[in-house]
Amino acid sequence: MDRHPAGAEHNDGRLIDHEDADRDVIAICIVAAAIILFVGIGGTVGPEVLNSFLGRGKGPDSALVGAFLLNIALIIFGWSRYRELAEEVTLRRQAEQQARMLAETDPMTGFFNRRSFDDAVNARIAKAAEEGSAVALLMIDLDNFKQVNDYNGHQTGDILLRACATRISGCVPGDAIVGRIGGDEFAVAVTFKSDLPALVERVASRLVDRIAQPTDCGNVVVDVTASIGIARSDISKLGGTIKGDARGLLEMADIAMYHAKRQGRNSYYWFEGPMADEMRFRCEIEAGIRLGIPRGEFVPYYEQQIDLQTGELTGYEMLARWESPDFGLIMPDIFIPIAEDIGAIGDLSECVISQALDDARDWDPALSLAVNVSPVQLRDPWFAQKLLRLLTEKRFPPHRLEIEITESCLHDNVVQVRSLITSLKNQGITVSLDDFGTGYSSLAQLRSLPFDRIKIDRSFVSSIVENKDSAAIVHSIAMLGQGLKLPITAEGIETSEVLEHLLPYGPLKGQGYLYGRPQPATVVRDWLESKGRVTRPRQSETGGHGREETMPPQRAVSNG
Ligand code: C2E
Ligand code: MG
Ligand code: MG
Repeated sequence: MDRHPAGAEHNDGRLIDHEDADRDVIAICIVAAAIILFVGIGGTVGPEVLNSFLGRGKGPDSALVGAFLLNIALIIFGWSRYRELAEEVTLRRQAEQQARMLAETDPMTGFFNRRSFDDAVNARIAKAAEEGSAVALLMIDLDNFKQVNDYNGHQTGDILLRACATRISGCVPGDAIVGRIGGDEFAVAVTFKSDLPALVERVASRLVDRIAQPTDCGNVVVDVTASIGIARSDISKLGGTIKGDARGLLEMADIAMYHAKRQGRNSYYWFEGPMADEMRFRCEIEAGIRLGIPRGEFVPYYEQQIDLQTGELTGYEMLARWESPDFGLIMPDIFIPIAEDIGAIGDLSECVISQALDDARDWDPALSLAVNVSPVQLRDPWFAQKLLRLLTEKRFPPHRLEIEITESCLHDNVVQVRSLITSLKNQGITVSLDDFGTGYSSLAQLRSLPFDRIKIDRSFVSSIVENKDSAAIVHSIAMLGQGLKLPITAEGIETSEVLEHLLPYGPLKGQGYLYGRPQPATVVRDWLESKGRVTRPRQSETGGHGREETMPPQRAVSNG
């Protein structure tokens, strides 16, 4: 396997070698000339010295002896200079080779780095084309590396990266080119026969399995998975539009890798043409989110929360909507995960919560306001402080605010979530566990976290009438709530039959389409005003978020 680029050819390296060779030749010429002179002068001086020694002559001319001795000195000097030069050249060559290695190798793993990987892959693609085979490029991205790094420190992150590098080396064929091309991104180029992609799939599947094995990082055992995208160099023959060189392959493999992430991670996908359109669309959405936040395109909608026994309104859950001028009304299932991925969720959430606090401040003080918080926001150590600052700025009483945390957050870091819940509760904010039943949290976890309320996921509630399993799950959660003395909210109540099934469970809260769809702020306010449930009459129309949720999208937006 080509792990590092020691064998790669380099023009500048060759130039330096020529220069050194020239200098070697000059030194050798000096020594050779001195030897010829030595032989010439020695041929005259030698017999004269011998004759003088035997008493047959008067000895050599002193000038000639001087020249002879000078000649010997010249040979010694020339030879030692040659030796020094040779040693210097060897040392320089080694230093240059090492510098080249450092410039082209990833020091952490010994793999090719991004720059040298491209060169090596291009050479391999050319060779494969000559041989009538193809090159598959596998882009490997570790799914939850950032969390491991953030929670356990960079040292643990480094150990994990090295462990993954060792696993990758163990999974790929001997002649594969392996590079580390980003923090937690690796790439592998494998030559294969165009009609036998199964070889590549075997490698990808092995990589997914091996990387998912737990890694002992000394003080902690961590789990990461990998998402892999694969592109093939003969893609243009298969009808692709992106070039089949290293850069094009990396681009395609990257698109396929993101597709794997969207499909639930821990898997591999071959690049296919439509993925590029999907990617372009996603890029447009990302840009739209970044621009839309400061433009105020993200607005709060409100869903009623009802006391099921009395039918009384107890408060509202704020649900974010994106009123995009380009795409129409977009639901949070689409934009929240993307905002999380691009690091915009904090700003987006602050923007909608801040509007919601403005909206709800004038409602009847008996009405609560529930807001959803993303797992990504919970990782922000300043989250609680930011929220409290917002409450103070907006003069909103903390006891009216309820934070909804989804069950999946508990798997990220229970210790951090516990301390966050505690500090929010200390300020008077209530905290509920959202979408309960979907995240497999254990009873022990539930008992150890000071939640104020559990919300049963709408998937169980809405199917309670026709699905026995759903009914059993709702029953167990209701019993669990009674046992732990935790109030329960049932979400997704769509019909009066569902409500009938829930009423025997005692004092539950509920929400769902039976009570109405989420509504924009102006609609909610008008309705509350008509019931005399606002503390201050409307002064002026604020903002433009007065559209109904049913506003038709101007462009189709899919979940996929
Ligand atoms: P969630 O917190 O569980 O919100 C309830 C979702 O169920 C809402 O979808 C609501 O419109 C929908 N729903 C309500 N009643 C019914 C019903 O009777 N039947 C059915 N089938 N669905 C019903 P929505 O607004 O699309 O929100 C989806 C999820 O997006 C929310 O689930 C929440 O997790 C997340 N979300 C919404 N707004 C925000 C936000 O501002 N920040 C964050 N981090 N997440 C948000
Ligand atoms: Mg919620
Ligand atoms: Mg929910």
